[in-house]
Amino acid sequence: MKAVTVVPLMKDSLALREMPKPSLGKGQVLLEPIEVGVCGTDKDIIEGKYGAAPPGEEYLILGHEAVASVAELGDGVDNVSVGDIVVPTVRRPFNCDLPVDFCPVGHYLEHGIWGLHGHAAEYSVTDARYLVKVPKDLLDVAVLTEPLSVVEKGIDMGLRIGQARFDWKPRTALVLGAGPVGLLATMVLRLMGISTVTTATRPPESLKAKLVLELGGKYVDSAVERVTGEFDIVVEATGSPQVAIEGLNHLAPNGVYVLLGVYPSGGSMSEVGGLMTSMVLNNKVIVGSVNAGIKHFEMALEHLRRAKEEFNNWPLKLITKRATLENYQEAYTWTHDDIKTVLEINPA
Ligand code: BGC
Repeated sequence: MKAVTVVPLMKDSLALREMPKPSLGKGQVLLEPIEVGVCGTDKDIIEGKYGAAPPGEEYLILGHEAVASVAELGDGVDNVSVGDIVVPTVRRPFNCDLPVDFCPVGHYLEHGIWGLHGHAAEYSVTDARYLVKVPKDLLDVAVLTEPLSVVEKGIDMGLRIGQARFDWKPRTALVLGAGPVGLLATMVLRLMGISTVTTATRPPESLKAKLVLELGGKYVDSAVERVTGEFDIVVEATGSPQVAIEGLNHLAPNGVYVLLGVYPSGGSMSEVGGLMTSMVLNNKVIVGSVNAGIKHFEMALEHLRRAKEEFNNWPLKLITKRATLENYQEAYTWTHDDIKTVLEINPA
């Protein structure tokens, strides 16, 4: 079968390769991926910064944001049927009894990222108990479920942490960044009725800016204008340490800071001490979020449904580029204005 592969940790090793069709184990399902989303983690893997092939193998098949149809059931599978549309969660535990998205590094594998093949292929295999069923009317946006699940988890944890302290009612939010994660966070916050400002370095006539306005959010072009004020919730989705540190200045007392980026290390961070002290003195919370379990995938699907209904099919507008397996290179080439690129593999 054809699959988009890399040799992990080898820069520019991305290639469409003929790979063996995976065989089914007990409790597993064979999937026919329909669409696979591309994200910053794929970029890091392609640039040779991250990733691991399954044990004993040279190649890693990419693709951890997927919507697929169930093609075949392994022994003992009774929670899905052939023909069901599903979104697979990413992570599988390894010597870990915690909810899988809380397992520490070294105690999990991740499809398309770390030690397990992904779904950017004509077929893939995964464990049936980690599948989330997709209602047919959400098929067109279901490829956004995985990135949205991470956003859902971050915001949900932020709210729970905030509300565990007292009857906290956040009314305002600042979202730093208008890539897929920032825009999806804006979507969730607006669905919660929270007044939201989203900033990015794109001009007001850009699609990113327009998508924020369509959600009833305010957009600030941070290349020309500074955000002012404090917000109950700040969501960091740029992945820039400088922006992340600067964002702390905008956190209101008792506010919650949700970090959703992956931040390169290095550089001068001399102001960190003062800002951290302000965190302590104002009882602020920073919460990191990576990966998510079934609950947050289900929340993601519910929010995609509401956003389609309440904001005129808005989630669909995030998909700004589509490519097929044959022109996969197109999918893995980034421009500043792309939001979500989707690889179309097997039509539903
Ligand atoms: C995925 C997560 C994964 C993380 C780290 C992200 O792109 O959405 O599921 O845990 O990368 O590998």
